[in-house]
Amino acid sequence: MSKQDFQLFSMVPLLRAAEQSSLNGRPAAIGAFNVNFYTQAEGILEGLKRADAPGIIQASRGANKFQGGPDKISAMVLAAMKETGHDLPVSLHLDHGDDEKGRECVDNGFSSVMIDASKLDLKDNIAATKSILNYAHPRGVSVEGEFGKLEGVEEDVIHESTTYADPFLVPHFFNESKADALAVAYGTAHGPNKGKGTDKLAIHIVQASYAGMKAYGQNENHFLVGHGSSTVPKELVEEINRYGGGIKDSAGIPMQKIQEAIAAGIRKVNIDTDLRLGITAAFRKFFHDNPGVEKKSPNVLVPIKQALDSHPEFIDPRDYLKTIDIGLLRVHPRGGDLEPVMVLIKERIAAHVEMLVRKFGSAGLAASVERVTLAEMAKRYDRN
Ligand SMILES: [Zn+2]
Repeated sequence: MSKQDFQLFSMVPLLRAAEQSSLNGRPAAIGAFNVNFYTQAEGILEGLKRADAPGIIQASRGANKFQGGPDKISAMVLAAMKETGHDLPVSLHLDHGDDEKGRECVDNGFSSVMIDASKLDLKDNIAATKSILNYAHPRGVSVEGEFGKLEGVEEDVIHESTTYADPFLVPHFFNESKADALAVAYGTAHGPNKGKGTDKLAIHIVQASYAGMKAYGQNENHFLVGHGSSTVPKELVEEINRYGGGIKDSAGIPMQKIQEAIAAGIRKVNIDTDLRLGITAAFRKFFHDNPGVEKKSPNVLVPIKQALDSHPEFIDPRDYLKTIDIGLLRVHPRGGDLEPVMVLIKERIAAHVEMLVRKFGSAGLAASVERVTLAEMAKRYDRN
C-alpha cells in the first residue's frame, strides 16, 4: 500500500502502543476526539501531527445524523487526511453506538465501533457487545463496550447519577465479550457541567480493574477507556460568555486527575465538550471582531449569527450550524463564506488537541504503532 492510500486503523495497535509505553514507565493514553464537520477533523489531525501522536477521531450517532450517515463521515475524515497529508496512525470510531448503527459504520468505512449497552444488566450487556463484535472482528474492526453508567447526557443516553463499574467483573467482561476496549464508569461525566464531579472520581476503580486485567494477562490486547473527560477550560467558557454566550456552572475534570487515571490504567481518553467550547468561542469572537461580516453572506453566516444571538446557551456547533447547507460542512471551506472563521477554528482545535495529547503522554508515540491493516487484524482475530 502506497503512502498516498490513506487508511484507517483499528484502535488496537494504537492503544497497545500506549500500553507498552506505560509498561516502560511512561504512562500514556490515546486521545479520542469527537468530530462533526470537516474543519474539526482537520484541526484534530493538525494537533496530532504537531505532537507526532497517534489518535482516534470519533463520531457519535448524533454526528452521523448531522452529516447524513457514516459513509459521509468516513469520506470527510479521509478527505481531511488527504488534504493535510496525514500519515500518522488514525482510527475512526463510532462513539456510543447501538447494534444497528455499529453494523452500518462497519460497512461504511469506520475502523472501530462502540456499543453502549450499559443500561442493560451485565449478562445482556455482554451479549449485546458480543453480537456487534461478531460482525466487526471478521472485518478487522475493533469494538468498545461500556460498563457502569456515566452521569450526564450523551446523545439520547441520559443518566442522572453515576453507577460505578465493578472492577472485579472487568476481566470477566473482557473474557466473555472479547471486547477490545471497555469504557468503565469511575466518576467522570458527560457534558460541560461535571458539577462537583471530582469528589465522585474513584480512580481506585481504574487501578483495581487494570490490576485484574494484568493478573489475567489481558492488558496488551484489551484496554480501559475514560469517557466524559473534557477539562472544560475556564478561559474558553469566559470567552464564550464575554461574546454573548451564557454558560453557567460549568466544570470539567482537572488535568491532574486525568493524568492520575492514565497512570492507573486508562488508555483512551474521550474529549468532546472541550472542542465544542473552542468552536463556539471561535464563532462568537469572529462575529464580535468582524462586525457586520455576516451581511455579505445571507445564506451562511446570517443564520449562524442569528442562532447564536438568540441562544446564549448553545455550545454544540450542531445546534447553530444545522441552519446551513450540510454540504458546506463536509468539505474544505476553501473560498467559501465560512473560510475565515474555519481558519480560526482549525488553529484553535489544533492547539488544544496538541496540548491534550502531550499531557496524555501519547506525543511521540506515532512511530511505535504497528501499522497492521484491517484485513490483517481480521486474520489475527480468526487465529485466536
Ligand atoms: Zn461517552
